Amino acid sequence: MNRNFQAIVVGAGPAGSASALSMARAGLDVALVERGTFPGEKNMFGGMLHRLPGLEEIFPDFWDRAPLERHIVKKGVSFLTGDSSFNTVIEPGSFDRTPYNGYTIFRPRFDNWLAQEAVNAGATLITSATVDELVYKSGRPDGVTIVGRQGELHAPVIVAADGVLSFLAKKAGLRQPVFDPGQIAVGVKALLDMPRELIDERFGLARDQGFANEFVGCTEGVRGGGFLYTNYDSLSIGLVFHLGSLRTSGKTPYDLLNEFLKQPQVAKLVRGGRILEYSAHLIPEGGYDMMPELTGDGILVTGDAAALCNATGLNLEGINLAVESGLLAGKAVAEVCRKGDFSKRSLEVYKELMNESHVMKDLKQYRKAPHMLHNDRIYSAYPELVCQIMEQIYRIEGTSKKNLTKLFIQSAKEKIGLGNLAADAFSAWRSL
Ligand SMILES: Cc1cc2nc3c(=O)[nH]c(=O)nc-3n(C[C@H](O)[C@H](O)[C@H](O)COP(=O)(O)OP(=O)(O)OC[C@H]3O[C@@H](n4cnc5c(N)ncnc54)[C@H](O)[C@@H]3O)c2cc1C
Repeated sequence: MNRNFQAIVVGAGPAGSASALSMARAGLDVALVERGTFPGEKNMFGGMLHRLPGLEEIFPDFWDRAPLERHIVKKGVSFLTGDSSFNTVIEPGSFDRTPYNGYTIFRPRFDNWLAQEAVNAGATLITSATVDELVYKSGRPDGVTIVGRQGELHAPVIVAADGVLSFLAKKAGLRQPVFDPGQIAVGVKALLDMPRELIDERFGLARDQGFANEFVGCTEGVRGGGFLYTNYDSLSIGLVFHLGSLRTSGKTPYDLLNEFLKQPQVAKLVRGGRILEYSAHLIPEGGYDMMPELTGDGILVTGDAAALCNATGLNLEGINLAVESGLLAGKAVAEVCRKGDFSKRSLEVYKELMNESHVMKDLKQYRKAPHMLHNDRIYSAYPELVCQIMEQIYRIEGTSKKNLTKLFIQSAKEKIGLGNLAADAFSAWRSL
């Protein structure tokens, strides 16, 4: 197969489909190339889909139109030690009113739907097609070769939306050939089948309400944390680890996940669930400092391929940033196509659009958060401290009570050290 297009988008994840959608709506002849047999086939996340202002502008009925699961009304954090937990839950009334703050989704359904919207707008979707080489003409990218379908596609501009390991960004020399394992995380997830009524009863939900919970102290000292999300009739539960710390520990993600599911506080939540599948994926967690060059001659980089993930330890945002960057890449390509100039200089318009967007503003604002999360105390000493203090506050034994300040200082000294506590508080203040 040999075909010419005005633009080629590689990868039909949220970034790629948003990009193709935006270009097709601008009247461009765009190819959307995906290695899966359908978009989203093997894509996974935690996860919670946050608000998508760019798509809401294109489809004012976006939230009725897209395939969604439950809207999240409660967010919680659990601090775990071997047999204790301290749980906090926030349930603001506004999370249960439209426009909702976020939804759970299934990636195969959501990604496929978004790609079909790009097709409906005029994009050409080519599936089962793995891009394995950039084709150059006069020293500039001019197309890609496809393994599955043995052919070449040509276009003067290519959008790399091929995810965290972006082969295209690497080939074009826009990113480091090897990642720093301290900037990459690996997520493992189990999908558990569970009747809808049981989920509603167990997590205190009604109608289409959903619950999202983070866990700290559940990774046996490896830097990372856990997550649980309620879908209509299943639970998504898993762990995310910093790759460098996982490697050093010598532990395997699936063993840690199985141990997590057996922890008494977690076992109660998943009881009655049947494991449907396991999945795993990498996450670019290095933030702003991990970003590659966003543009080169004839090429733009979007979504995870550009490390556009905001992992602050409080929220993990990736899909919303991928979609926004994809839409802006599409807008930039439409503009350079009008001028007929596909040089790096001309494509810098994408950088300008990105710099004005919340994507870059947020990544810059939370630039220090990934560094703060490289602190082993967060993953065992602090959960132990919180559980110990709360246990002593609520334990009433008929003896005189300790002064709360003294109790806090004594426990903090014992578990963290006062110097470390002050340093960690300063680091958290600077990062968040
Ligand atoms: C465990 C976990 C939990 C997460 N939780 C959340 C969350 O709660 N909320 C949130 O917003 N984000 C979350 N994320 C992050 C989010 O999933 C990503 O940021 C988002 O998927 C990035 O979208 P993308 O389109 O850039 O890349 P991807 O979704 O990775 O899509 C890339 C696409 O390119 C295709 N592709 C790759 N290489 C080629 C090739 N050579 N040729 C053709 N096609 C190719 C792939 O098949 C895929 O379809 C989570 C991620 C993980 C792993």
